[in-house]
Amino acid sequence: MRKLTSWISYKEDCDFSIYNIPFGIFSTKNKSPRLGIAIGDKVLDLAGVAKQGFFDKIKIDKKVFSQNTLNDFISTGKPKTKKVRLTLQKLLSGKSSALQDFPKLFHNQSAVKMHLPVAIGDYTDFYSSIEHATNVGMMFRDPANALLPNWRHIPVGYHGRSSSIIVSGENIKRPKGQLMMKDAKRPVYKPSQRVDFELEMGFIIGKDSALGKPVSIEKAEDHIFGLALFNDWSARDIQKWEYVPLGPFLGKNFASSLSPWIVTLEALDPFRVQGPKQKPAVQPYLKYSGLQNYDINLDVSITPNKGSENIVSHSNFKFMYWNMIQQLAHHTVNGCNVRVGDLMASGTISGKDVNSYGSMLEIAWAGSKPITLNDGTQRKFINDNDTVTMRGYAEKEGVRVGFGEVKAKILPSD
Ligand code: MN
Repeated sequence: MRKLTSWISYKEDCDFSIYNIPFGIFSTKNKSPRLGIAIGDKVLDLAGVAKQGFFDKIKIDKKVFSQNTLNDFISTGKPKTKKVRLTLQKLLSGKSSALQDFPKLFHNQSAVKMHLPVAIGDYTDFYSSIEHATNVGMMFRDPANALLPNWRHIPVGYHGRSSSIIVSGENIKRPKGQLMMKDAKRPVYKPSQRVDFELEMGFIIGKDSALGKPVSIEKAEDHIFGLALFNDWSARDIQKWEYVPLGPFLGKNFASSLSPWIVTLEALDPFRVQGPKQKPAVQPYLKYSGLQNYDINLDVSITPNKGSENIVSHSNFKFMYWNMIQQLAHHTVNGCNVRVGDLMASGTISGKDVNSYGSMLEIAWAGSKPITLNDGTQRKFINDNDTVTMRGYAEKEGVRVGFGEVKAKILPSD
């Protein structure tokens, strides 16, 4: 890897190193939301950078940097967005640069407000971790036949809802709904007793595809702009009662949290790894070559009200059985089109051992094995006023590219 340094100082374990340059939407006091990148503990104002002429050679419309979503910027296409990222990397690296004459374009991350980075058109959630699908199958169906017959042939997914996707830091009211209590004859309407997180990664579509024209697996990467952390909040009791026969609905769509910085596929390139062996062989349209999984360390923590943080899971994005290009090739194989700003989420990312499970459903095994937090309280699921935080980063040979965090607090129902 080419060694880079930056004249912006940051700690070795900083997620937003010179190798990263993730894009997001931020606002400062009395100024409207606009594009920024994260470097160290700063946000660099791209509307300002564009105004000063630093992108003039790229021939990109300056207006895209003053928008309140990344969509128009992403729509300019990868050749341009890559050049913007590389221009910024160059301006921020080394010992000095012309950008140093514009200190007002840098803001402390702690002083800005981050917004949902993308206007999300459609949102699809996959179910692509074999460990997660096996655990759920063991709990709810048949331990001997935990995986359904389609699972190793199809990257299983469902269409979710984009209106309730919120940015990290926004809190969530505990959802109410119909629950079928144990041994009851009729459902009751009350607050969910089983609010859970799902540790996921999401990817943002970077290029439209045409209706009726599948995106081939070879071309799929061209359609992926970047990735973010994603918490697919789930109400297990609402989900359990409603999901037959059409799948997830109100148990899922009350909220999902997205981290504010979109890390580009280019920034993640050094962290590619081989994925798990797929057996039996997949259909030809799902056959891929090269390294298509990414070694991204993922953590989940629970912080009770006024309490301290408890890490409850260490997982990794590399565990995914189905990778992103397979998901996208499958999603479009029937002619379904995708659009810039669509979000595709991985599904809960669990590893093989209990410390790497990506949901409380698995960690506490459907409530049968509660965990004890460092304040002595127990958890089967998420309590009122608990904050759930997810973090993720890739690291190799001293190079770190991270995602920051996605967090939200569960507030009591009305
Ligand atoms: Mn999910």
